[in-house]
Amino acid sequence: MTDERTHACVCGKMRWRIAQKAPGTHLVCYCEDCQTAARFLKHQITRLDSDGGSEIFQTLPAHFEFLKGREHLSVLRLAPKGLMRWHAGCCGTPIANTLPTPTLPFVGAILPPGTKGYGPIKALVNTVGTASHIKETGVLAAHLSIIGRILRARLPGGQRTSPFFDTTGTPVAVPRVLSPQERNIARPG
Ligand SMILES: [Zn+2]
Ligand SMILES: [Zn+2]
Repeated sequence: MTDERTHACVCGKMRWRIAQKAPGTHLVCYCEDCQTAARFLKHQITRLDSDGGSEIFQTLPAHFEFLKGREHLSVLRLAPKGLMRWHAGCCGTPIANTLPTPTLPFVGAILPPGTKGYGPIKALVNTVGTASHIKETGVLAAHLSIIGRILRARLPGGQRTSPFFDTTGTPVAVPRVLSPQERNIARPG
């Protein structure tokens, strides 16, 4: 069954779904790193809004499920300690961001701008650069709700599984760390 929370990569080899019941925070992040990652993957048109914003739904990885093509899952990091930026290896479509280990269960699913099915946008964060005319809102509430979900998931019986890591906590794909040069070329101008 498809629904508003089922997504596909641009070439169609990968499909994934976020559970209808998954609670989370729907926000837009305008930071330079999210833009750099989208631009490196050549998906600034499909995944950035006109101000360079990335629409993100932050939730628990246990609510994230691959339906098709998980073998294409690839991951890059803008720097050795950067976020894990998961994307479709087939066509570069950005999928989600996680922390480097599953110990802190967190996923920021990357949505095409204007995606329905996640309720209203609750926060506009990191409004820098071309987005500096936008007022930052909802930052504290967004952080608190992430921290609350992570802490609850870490309780005994909490939902700690993640499709991005195996049971030993190893990422299911080997991260490609961009060189400073690769990163600089992709930076928003
Ligand atoms: Zn694809
Ligand atoms: Zn960002």
